[in-house]
Amino acid sequence: MKTLLKGGRVVDPVAGRDGVFDVLIDGDRVVEVGSNLSAAGAKVIDVPAGFIVAPGLIDIHVHLREPGQEHKETIATGLASAVAGGFTAVACMPNTTPVNDQAGITQFIVKRAAEVGLARVYPIGAVSMGSNGEQLTEIGDLRAAGCVAITDDGKPVGSALLMRRALEYASMFKMPVIEHCEDPSLKGNGVAHEGAVASLLGLKGIPSCAESIMAERDISLAELTGGHVHIAHMSARQTLRAVRAGKANGIHVTCEVTPHHFTLTDVAIRGYDTNTKMNPPLREEADRLAMIEGLRDGSIDVIATDHAPHHADEKALEFDKAPFGIVGLETAIPLCVTKLIEPGVVTWPRLIELLSAAPARVLNLPGGTLTAGGTADITVIAPDAAVTIRAASLKSKSKNTPFDGWELKGAAAATIVGGKVVFVNDAVAGSERFQ
Ligand SMILES: [Zn+2]
Repeated sequence: MKTLLKGGRVVDPVAGRDGVFDVLIDGDRVVEVGSNLSAAGAKVIDVPAGFIVAPGLIDIHVHLREPGQEHKETIATGLASAVAGGFTAVACMPNTTPVNDQAGITQFIVKRAAEVGLARVYPIGAVSMGSNGEQLTEIGDLRAAGCVAITDDGKPVGSALLMRRALEYASMFKMPVIEHCEDPSLKGNGVAHEGAVASLLGLKGIPSCAESIMAERDISLAELTGGHVHIAHMSARQTLRAVRAGKANGIHVTCEVTPHHFTLTDVAIRGYDTNTKMNPPLREEADRLAMIEGLRDGSIDVIATDHAPHHADEKALEFDKAPFGIVGLETAIPLCVTKLIEPGVVTWPRLIELLSAAPARVLNLPGGTLTAGGTADITVIAPDAAVTIRAASLKSKSKNTPFDGWELKGAAAATIVGGKVVFVNDAVAGSERFQ
């Protein structure tokens, strides 16, 4: 079965392509990307003028919650949310119940994801058994079962020695160690960024250096071991400074930032809305601007959502007691287009680098480019679509977003995984052509 996407703006930074091209797909593979392509018997889809045809977006920081926390999200609802947000692949964090610290759990996730279909799932295993920070997991077994990285996300790896060993072993399997950078003693029982807003609200603060101190430690350990450390959900300008210094010294460090950290600041928490409570916390305007600059100048590698679904009952607590985190898969494209493309912070090729090419590179995944013989994972984006975020309409099982009611620009028009159209956005004019 051949499909020909005709006439979209193909943006593929790895292939150096940005222009109007056709994409010919046969089965689950890309056959050719070029001008004026034709193929006998192919189903032809006329891509509306101006729509972006990109290699499938990859979100490397997603909490799918299954096994064990299915009241928040399941692999099925999480993947429905992913493809609705334009993501053809997600990497899922190990802080499920039980923790993904052994091959049997990884295999369960891989099997369940294959049954669901929709987006591809790449599990991330734990650094330590139970993510308790004591005994290293069997990293080779996790790798063999399908894990693409290790992390104790949700918590940092508290012991520098354990982090050293994790970097040593993970590098034998060419995997990064992803760190949730947070010095536990400095974080204490903080719930918001330590600064004027938290003081005013009477909330316990988490200083920026709780993050940057641990990032500096880990970058030093990456230097010592030659391993690859990836800094998750960077929020503080001091952390970005440490990452830049590490990169300048040839150390293998990469980093990601979330849409909420380049969009919001701690000012958003003034109404005590628990959907503005996340970890790391929303920081100050100077931090937000630093993240924007890092996205612009290339020192930030990846945009990842840290999609963290929580049940409404869990979030309906006092700010101090509510869990950290928000859903992010379905708001990523509109926030990126509105906050980064529209004001001219980044170009489309740079945005696709941040959302597809670089995530593939950081986790050594297939995809991230559209080349002959490569997998036909494609995201079609309507860059000018007007979007109003409606929490109640999200495909995710949880609705914990601070962006409810926001009017934004840009949406996934269609999501294609392995040559199959797995999502069509009925609300975007022209999308019906992909049906
Ligand atoms: Zn985290």
